[in-house]
Amino acid sequence: MPPTPLHGPGTPSPAGYRDLLDTAHAHAVRYLDGLPERPVHALAGDEELHALLGGPLPAEGQQPHDVLEQLTRGVERGLVPSGNGRYLGYVVGGTLPVALAADWLTSAWDQNCIVHDISPATAVVEDICRAWLVDLFGLPAATSAAFVPACTHAELLCLAVARHTVLARHGWDVAASGLDGAPPVRVLINATAHAAVVRSLEFLGLGGAVERVPVDAEARMLPAALDAAVRAADGHPLIVCAQAGEINTGGIDHLRTVCETTHAADGWVHLDGAFGLWAAASPTLRSNVADGVELCDSWATDAHKWLNTPYDGAVALIADPTAHRAALPLDASYLQLQPDQRHPVEWGLEVSRRSRVFPLWAALRTLGAQGVAELVDRCCAHARLLAARLRAEPGITVVNDVSLNQVIVTFAPSDADADADAVDARTLRVALALQAEGETWASPSTWQDRTVLRLCLINWATDRDDVERAAAALLRAHRTTG
Ligand SMILES: *Cc1c(COP(=O)(O)O)cnc(C)c1O
Repeated sequence: MPPTPLHGPGTPSPAGYRDLLDTAHAHAVRYLDGLPERPVHALAGDEELHALLGGPLPAEGQQPHDVLEQLTRGVERGLVPSGNGRYLGYVVGGTLPVALAADWLTSAWDQNCIVHDISPATAVVEDICRAWLVDLFGLPAATSAAFVPACTHAELLCLAVARHTVLARHGWDVAASGLDGAPPVRVLINATAHAAVVRSLEFLGLGGAVERVPVDAEARMLPAALDAAVRAADGHPLIVCAQAGEINTGGIDHLRTVCETTHAADGWVHLDGAFGLWAAASPTLRSNVADGVELCDSWATDAHKWLNTPYDGAVALIADPTAHRAALPLDASYLQLQPDQRHPVEWGLEVSRRSRVFPLWAALRTLGAQGVAELVDRCCAHARLLAARLRAEPGITVVNDVSLNQVIVTFAPSDADADADAVDARTLRVALALQAEGETWASPSTWQDRTVLRLCLINWATDRDDVERAAAALLRAHRTTG
């Protein structure tokens, strides 16, 4: 039998890294350089992508270099260039160049980071970023952090800690005993809470405990309604889920009132601040819309939205580190854990994972506290400018206050007595016309039972010219759509 080759086509020699990474680098730079003028939509349909990339799994491998070429050629046709400054869809954000570069290095370093000794650099940089974020958001100094893949995961982790803590206050250890026979938990959520919050509560066995608190036109819980719901939950373990940055209006709950009301009933306030928590980093916005943010018990946020890091960047923050640890017992005697060091596995649900904190460190170190505030303020100023351009046009209605970075609009038909259904239908037609043109991209949404077009200003790369071009494209779609 011939010896197994050490370096066959699929196993490049160490020197092979250089060629492949050089090729990847060239493709990446070409793609990024082309972003500003590439149409802001995918170029190929699924059929073409299957033809380029699919077929049965080949029995024999191929040269890695050819594979990389084929990957690039195929995938690029189906990419939505969301890093373009005129991509206003969903709540997405771009990637700061330094964060992208740090992300590449993170892959090259390929660190697992279960415990301190498997990657001391990861453990220490997580501690540093914890302190930086606490400072940036003005949270209690002891606040603990877990670096997680996405805000949905952060919600799940925060709410697991909330569940454990409020049940412990009623003499029940949910980690040891489960939910069977536990005192019934009451969960009050902002009626417009993101699906990530609802889904996390369902995972935690609290789906049946959820009660939605009605909101005002900007998606903020009505204080009187919350007060009544908290009173009705009196004597039960209580969790209240507030929101900073509703995905349509950008609305932020009256956090001081929510926290005072909830804490008076010995409840836990969790804040979904996927993008809205970043308002706390802006001195102007903080006093206007994020007053009392530091009073919450837990915060879930994304770095991959408003901080503009690549995906796989989110943080769960817990005011009380003892509660955080108590909710995540870890029985792994094979791990030798020094008590005075950070062991990432003790703060999150994952065991093996990537060292995702480095792009976050690079973004924060590059921007500084002032740079983050400027980025947030600039996006909000762009949202106000876009709203002003649209408001000036007959037939277009800006539905929300635009107090943050979100703008929602409707497009009425020209006949004066069109009913609400006709406005819904036309808003959808204008959205499709806009997407097809490729100058800018935005997605329809439903807000208070009506169709709206949702415009999200959250990309570091968006400049004033992009905003003017996006406004012109929206006006064009409005004027030329029947
Ligand atoms: C995006 C978002 C989430 C979910 O975050 P992921 O990073 O997509 O998991 C939750 N809440 C709000 C308000 C969001 O905008």
